[in-house]
Order: sequence, then structure tokens, then C-alpha cells
Amino acid sequence: MTATSSTGSKTPSSEPRASSRPGTLPARPLRWIEIAVPAHAEAVEAVSEILTRVGYNGIAIEEPLEPSPHAEHLVKAYLIHDSAARGRVRAVREALGHLQAFGLGPIGTLRLRRVEDEDWLESWKASFTPLRIGRFLVRPTWSDADPGDAIVLELDPGMAFGTGLHPTTQQCLRALSVLDIMGKTVADIGTGSAILAIAAAKRGAASVVAVDIDPVSMRAATENVARNRVAVTVGRGSAAEVPGRHDLVLANIVAPVLQQIAPDLARCTAAGGLLVTAGIIAAAEDETVAAFEAAGFRSAGREQDGDWVSWRFGR
Ligand code: SAH
Repeated sequence: MTATSSTGSKTPSSEPRASSRPGTLPARPLRWIEIAVPAHAEAVEAVSEILTRVGYNGIAIEEPLEPSPHAEHLVKAYLIHDSAARGRVRAVREALGHLQAFGLGPIGTLRLRRVEDEDWLESWKASFTPLRIGRFLVRPTWSDADPGDAIVLELDPGMAFGTGLHPTTQQCLRALSVLDIMGKTVADIGTGSAILAIAAAKRGAASVVAVDIDPVSMRAATENVARNRVAVTVGRGSAAEVPGRHDLVLANIVAPVLQQIAPDLARCTAAGGLLVTAGIIAAAEDETVAAFEAAGFRSAGREQDGDWVSWRFGR
């Protein structure tokens, strides 16, 4: 395992992206284009990945007010309105077209809007208000919202995942709110922004190791760990690369990957330990649970939020 540091973003692919550069705003006012794509819950991640390729400072996801499997999310990116903008918008349209050809949940019509510089920054920041999830308050670094009795997770957006907005992340944070973590050893597989690893560390884990196959995620994770002043070992790889066995293993990744790495997850979960999984779309639930059972896990609890299912497994 190797460790690294710096900034970055996350999506499910392992492709590094030239987006997400928090803190590097241009010196003079620029004109911006806002791209907004309505997307069904199932398509949000894939649409986010496409917009992350062109978005300056990552993307924003607006969730529906009423959680329902049919409600539309709105995925937004901002790009500089320069001579290359037209080509970038065309590339996004093409990529979204390909996505629809794969039938990955309905995607609405792409909307474009011109935005002035100051408006852009403010509207981007306004998309990210502090979010209370279980015992945690996920707070952007520019916010001074009073945490009250909550445990603060300081995370800046600029990434599709791991800002606490995604229902699967919220499922894991709720689990981390109620589980007894004090003194436990924890492994976070597919750490993204490291949000779950940081949450586990702040709840008193004895040690936390966090891995991701995406080098861009790893850099974001390393930076977020430092910002939150917690001890988390960040490394590149997957469950197979995690040394030792752990009392608590977290894995919020998509169902096909979970099925594939189930035996590795079993190897890094201690006997008597617990695995918390999320990212399982309801349609893939049965085969995913079967893969975990075949790997030696026994089910220890289930939670569903819209189309997303989270399972806990014991060993
Ligand atoms: N843990 C974060 C991020 C989840 S997104 C959260 O709960 O919000 C899923 C992450 O898994 C992505 O960062 C992706 O790069 C990573 N990933 C995808 N396939 C993986 C694999 N086979 N092994 C490890 N990580 C993987």
C-alpha cells in the first residue's frame, strides 16, 4: 500500500479527472456556464461522473425534497465560458447520450445557463449547507454552523461522493452513529473522500485504514483526513491490499464490485467482526447477499432508502 496527499475528487471509475481544484479560483472575474442535468437516482452517479470531467471544482447534486425512487436529482457543473466551452458541452451531451443507450435510469434534458462570477461562487457554495446525519454534522470548511452536540466532519464539496449527500453515505454514517466503535480497528474500502473513515476515527476507533483504487479519491481522502486532524492510514488498492483483520469493515461501493470483492472483504473482517455494506441497488440485492453468504458472512441487518439497500454482515 502506498500513501499520498493533495486534493481531488471521487467517482466510481478509476480514471483521474482534471476537476476539483478547491481554492484555485481564477484571479479575474470570468463568465461561467451552468450545466444542469435532471437524473433518476440510479443514473446520478454516472451523470456525476460525466459532469465531473468538465466541471470546475467538481459538481453539485441537488436531492429531491421528497425521497422517492422516482424523484429526480439535479446534477450541476460549472464550466468557464471560454472558447473550449462549446466543445466541452458537446462532449457532455454525447456522453449522456451513450449513458441513455445503456438504459441506466432516465436522464432529463440538459439545461444550460450563463452565470456571472460572483453568482457562481455563491450559488455553488449555497448548494452545500451543513447536513446533520445521525450523530454527525457534515460541514463545509467555510461554514461556521454551530455543531451543538454533533461530531463535525469537515468536508468540502468538489466531489460527487463523500460530501455526505448521497443516500448510501448517509446509511453508513447512521450505522457509524449507533455502532460501538470505541477501541475497534476499522477498514474503509472504497473510501472516496474518506468521510466514513474520518467518522469512524472521530467515534474513537483504535485504528482506521482507508483504501481506494482511484488515485484522485486517495488524494482527496488524504487531504480530508489532515483537515479533520484524525489518524487514518490512506492507501491505494482494494480489500485485497488491506493488511490484517478488522473489527469493523465499511464498504460503500456498487453491487457488482461488492460481489466481486466479497471474499477479500471476508478475509479482512475479524472473526466476530462486522461488515457494513452500502451501494447495493435494490435490483441487485439478492445476488449480492448470496455472494456475501458464499464468502462466509451471515446477514446481521438491512436498511433501505429509496432504491438503495445497505446490509450488515457478521463473520
Ligand atoms: N466511502 C465513500 C465513497 C463511496 S463511493 C462514501 O461512503 O461516501 C465508492 C468508492 O469506491 C469510490 O471512491 C471508488 O473509487 C471506489 N472503488 C470502486 N471500486 C473499488 C474497488 N474495487 N476497490 C476499492 N475501491 C473501489
